[in-house]
Amino acid sequence: AAPNAPYLSEALISLGNLRHNLRCIRAITGPQCRIMGIVKANAYGHGAAQVTATLEAEGVRDFGVANIHEAIELRQEHRMQHDSRLLAFASPLTEHIALYLQHGVEMTVCDHETVRAAEAIAAASGGRLRVQVKVDTGMGRLGVTPEEAAGLLERIDASPNLELVGIYTHFAESHKPEGFTARQRERFLDVTNACERRTGRTVTKHASNSGAIVSMPDSRFDMVRPGILLYGCHPVDAEPSPVPVRPVMQFQCRVIFVKEVAAGTSISYSRTWNAPGTTRIATLSAGYADGFHRTLSNRARVCIGGKSFPQVGTVTMDQTMLDLGGDRSVKVGDTAVLFGWDGPTAGEQAIAAGTISYELLCSVSRRVKRIFV
Ligand code: PLP
Repeated sequence: AAPNAPYLSEALISLGNLRHNLRCIRAITGPQCRIMGIVKANAYGHGAAQVTATLEAEGVRDFGVANIHEAIELRQEHRMQHDSRLLAFASPLTEHIALYLQHGVEMTVCDHETVRAAEAIAAASGGRLRVQVKVDTGMGRLGVTPEEAAGLLERIDASPNLELVGIYTHFAESHKPEGFTARQRERFLDVTNACERRTGRTVTKHASNSGAIVSMPDSRFDMVRPGILLYGCHPVDAEPSPVPVRPVMQFQCRVIFVKEVAAGTSISYSRTWNAPGTTRIATLSAGYADGFHRTLSNRARVCIGGKSFPQVGTVTMDQTMLDLGGDRSVKVGDTAVLFGWDGPTAGEQAIAAGTISYELLCSVSRRVKRIFV
């Protein structure tokens, strides 16, 4: 490629906006509350190594990833600060427990079998494994039941090879602080209070994702776990964000072809759109293999040079078409913003796609060049 030739699909990542969003979250939680940067799924598609480095430079020392493999990849791509902690959320397979010790990753524990295996593996290696107990207070995904939590916590606390460094839970509908979420909070506090009474010491406790950070001031505890807010989206796409976060990613591509078509011309697979009259059609250099979901077909709008155009016809693997109408300003080589600060937001596009901003962000694929700005 010629020097400085534009990429056909790219994601501009604004680390300045990431820092701004972190500061917005700190302004809500106050300086005492630790912030765990959630950098799973390649930091929601933004680049885990760069996001982690940026957050570390701002003083963040806690990070959360989905599983041990993401943790190892992050360790390999980015030399973390010596005092940074990395927690993997998945309950481990026994075969993977030694990797937590080897790579210095905190392990989520949800049952006695894992504790037994972890004790044996840590004892055999002469190491001490840092663990966090996950309590299932109502998410129904992972965790020990509140009834069984006390026994598990006591057992870990008594083990010379395991170090209990946290207790956490996850809300199922954190944007609705009353009712079910309030009961989840109560169940969690019952467990942590009982643990503190039995062990005679306090353990870091955390529960809040982005929705709870915004809506449940009484659930911030020792640490909060923001993901989507860090990346500049409100967790509920249909609502305006009460926090002035800014998008961190702009997903964009190029116009690679422009043509005029006659009334009745069909566009793309299955001929789902036919030109209602003479019009101009732009073909863009990104499709669903880049992360522009096929469910956006005939539903999305895309911005070029500040003007918004309807997407028409089925989104294909590598290309997407727009109806330019009578506009004659759009030219081959122009930048088309699929979502970001110069176009529709990821949240708006998610509503059009029938999904959530999270899914759009983390499905921006490997083919899309990340450019840190
Ligand atoms: N904590 C856990 C355990 C998670 O699985 C997630 C993401 O799903 C988060 C925190 C961050 O959630 P959010 O992106 O809604 O802030």
